[in-house]
Amino acid sequence: MSKFDASSCMSRRTVLIAAAGAAPLLALGATGAKAAKMSQAAVRYQATPKDGKQCDGCKLFIAPNACKSVDGTIAATGWCALWVKKAA
Ligand code: SF4
Repeated sequence: MSKFDASSCMSRRTVLIAAAGAAPLLALGATGAKAAKMSQAAVRYQATPKDGKQCDGCKLFIAPNACKSVDGTIAATGWCALWVKKAA
């Protein structure tokens, strides 16, 4: 019985340590999703269209002037390397 108790205790301790260790990671993950926007420079953002493509035709655009993936103010007439055609 004592052998069983020891292993049970170790198991509980292991779970508690794992939970304590995971808590900060979970908190990071919760905030990390919102902080994951890229800089305008990193995606070669420009305030003018490129090859007929512009932000208001991109599925990542958030009217009137933001983007799900790129940080800062985004012009509806802008463009960047992440451009993805908005569904019709
Ligand atoms: S083109 Fe780039 S900056 Fe513009 S909405 Fe799409 S992902 Fe955002």
